[in-house]
Amino acid sequence: MQRYAVFGSPIAHSQSPRIHAAFARQTGVSMDYVAVEAGHGDFAAKLAASGVQGANVTLPLKEDAFALCAETSSRAQRSGAVNTLLRAGSGWHGDNTDGVGLVRDLTERHGLDLRQRRVLLLGAGGAARGVAPALLDAGIGELYVVNRTPARADALADAMGEPGRVHARGWDALPALGGFDLLVNATSASRGGTLPALPMGLAAPRSAAVDLSYGEAAVSFLAWARAAGCSHAVDGLGMLVEQAAESFLLWHGVRPETEAVYAALSGQGDALVTAD
Ligand code: NDP
Repeated sequence: MQRYAVFGSPIAHSQSPRIHAAFARQTGVSMDYVAVEAGHGDFAAKLAASGVQGANVTLPLKEDAFALCAETSSRAQRSGAVNTLLRAGSGWHGDNTDGVGLVRDLTERHGLDLRQRRVLLLGAGGAARGVAPALLDAGIGELYVVNRTPARADALADAMGEPGRVHARGWDALPALGGFDLLVNATSASRGGTLPALPMGLAAPRSAAVDLSYGEAAVSFLAWARAAGCSHAVDGLGMLVEQAAESFLLWHGVRPETEAVYAALSGQGDALVTAD
């Protein structure tokens, strides 16, 4: 049986093994997918020893994964981060499905039209770097990247290579930025800190907001978004399922249906049956 895994830290609560087991069952693919706790110091050794055909990589290893790949897709290069590894001879091919996962969730599941939209991206870490190129490819009009550490926002904006469309700002510039059609929280503030207060004027009545985190971690930002008048306020669960489906497609050549898995994880559908 082919082996796959997700590497990261902390990894115990990762939903990826459940999602991939459900996809495998649905498509008839025979594989094993496990979660492996790994940090900067032991990731390369654990990957090499794992015997996997492919892997997902999550916090804090996406840049490490990018660095160890012999070759990378253009979307991974623009992100500087890899969330999907495929065996390529004796080395690894790296890809990044986070951005396409977010865009699929917003456009196909939530019916949003991203074309020409004015977009605010809060955060400039691995997730922000993953989604920025895909948002631009989806045809948004302008992207404002705002980060607590302004130099990282500058670096992300520079990496996109579109100075006319992508602008970096510090957090203190938020009140002067006006309203946005789409607000993306790609910070990890909910993991132990709090997001600085956001001006209500960032949202307009038809704005949409998405927090890339999900569950309890997304509650605070999405509550703010609803209070600010956003018509859509969604968490990152749909993105999680869609990026997993894209990884599954890369590994197995078949794209699984995502709706039942999304419904099960969000508590709206039947429980996931993953055991054979
Ligand atoms: P990183 O650690 O790479 O980046 C964290 C970002 O959050 C940085 O921009 C950091 O700013 C900012 N930040 C952290 N704390 C605060 C705070 N208190 N106030 C303001 N900004 C803050 O994390 P990732 O980019 O990998 O992950 C970000 C989020 O996205 C996580 O919640 C993660 O779970 C989620 N995610 C969801 C996915 C999905 O499929 N749904 C996929 C990938 C990620 P600074 O640069 O100043 O430190």
